[in-house]
Amino acid sequence: MEQFHPDIKDVLLSEDDIKKIVSCIGDQISTDYEGKNPLVIAVLRGAFIFTADLMRAIKTDCEVDFMAVSSYGDGVKSSGVVRIIKDLDTKIEGRDVIIAEDILDSGLTLSYLIKALGARHPKSIEIAAFLVKDIEGKKPAVTPRYVGAHVPDAFVVGYGLDYAEHYRNLPYIGVLKPEVYS
Ligand code: 5GP
Repeated sequence: MEQFHPDIKDVLLSEDDIKKIVSCIGDQISTDYEGKNPLVIAVLRGAFIFTADLMRAIKTDCEVDFMAVSSYGDGVKSSGVVRIIKDLDTKIEGRDVIIAEDILDSGLTLSYLIKALGARHPKSIEIAAFLVKDIEGKKPAVTPRYVGAHVPDAFVVGYGLDYAEHYRNLPYIGVLKPEVYS
């Protein structure tokens, strides 16, 4: 039997599940952006693994750039305050832009980013969210065009997602045991 990290309560998505999900998003983007050379923007740090896999699953020409924003710090609750820590190196005016996000929770981070990037006059901006967190009675502030999977309202780690910078290297998506962060 596969051994999971001792701090993990449940595994929500296995490596195999993740491969299928990313390949499916890659196929959709390849069809939708044929001949358009989209710029895929990875929101660091959480989306770095998803973006690396997604780029390889996109079969049409595309480029990548990176942005870093702060939203959660070392905690598990959204502060609602977003700060750009690292900006793009690429000019996006007139470009088709796809923001690759690890997990969409309240959507506040992306809503801020879309406003900031929209002011630079790209041709289009869409979101590819690897995960969307389902929270009863709450709708995220933005609607992603591409969604990998929905996860319940629990704190998840792995596949680039951290808790206090740990667990990013886990190859699966797991729910952290609450006693680890409480
Ligand atoms: P939002 O602004 O949509 O509420 O939060 C988005 C950001 O919060 C994500 O990019 C991610 O960095 C962080 N986040 C939200 N939920 C989780 C979670 O369950 N686990 C981890 N590791 N980060 C999360």
